[in-house]
Amino acid sequence: MIELSGITKSFGTLQVLKGIDLLIGKGEIVSIVGPSGAGKTTLLQIMGTLDKADAGTVILNGTEVNRLKEKELSAFRNQQIGFVFQFHQLLPEFTALENVMIPAFISGASSGDAMKRAKETLDFLGLAERASHKPAELSGGEKQRVAVARALINSPAVILADEPSGSLDTRNKEELHQLFFDLRDKLGQTFVIVTHDETLAKLTDRTIHMVDGRISIDR
Ligand code: ADP
Repeated sequence: MIELSGITKSFGTLQVLKGIDLLIGKGEIVSIVGPSGAGKTTLLQIMGTLDKADAGTVILNGTEVNRLKEKELSAFRNQQIGFVFQFHQLLPEFTALENVMIPAFISGASSGDAMKRAKETLDFLGLAERASHKPAELSGGEKQRVAVARALINSPAVILADEPSGSLDTRNKEELHQLFFDLRDKLGQTFVIVTHDETLAKLTDRTIHMVDGRISIDR
């Protein structure tokens, strides 16, 4: 599902990724751990086509993303990849339902279709009762689950999450982690999760340890 080879990346004179090779299979849940500054977020951003590597190739679900033109790339990203960040990044003036509809709209769905899919996705995540609430009216755990619903609406093959439970308390953390495993089991999605949470890392199928721009352990 994800194939990285020879990925390097520098910011100015600082080389942040020093040659990353990585294969992730369909339906795998992989955690990326390592000290702050190791390059985890940069790697996730490159994997998600939000940033470009200086060298190397990224193949996602059979498509070599380096070859896509800017417009094709944003359509590809919106269709194939769902993102979940530490802070939910929901738009405060919109309801949960409207927030979840956004990626469907960007993909060209009609408002009827986007609304239908957003309702189904919220329902699937047990959030039907919260559809008309704005983010400020939701708990931390609910906001993060709405963000997951937004990541799921286009049925992407891959979900990339950067410290997704970093702002949650223990109970909500466990619920969110369980949700990732349920989604993989029910929908077959592939997850790559950057995390400091050792409990989560232990639960994942595989843990990639990064140190100073390289993969030090992969098991
Ligand atoms: P991690 O996620 O492991 O903490 P990051 O990938 O966020 O590491 O960052 C790795 C290094 O790259 C850090 O030293 C960070 O300051 C630097 N860095 C990340 N993004 C940028 C950027 N856009 N411009 C300049 N430096 C950056």
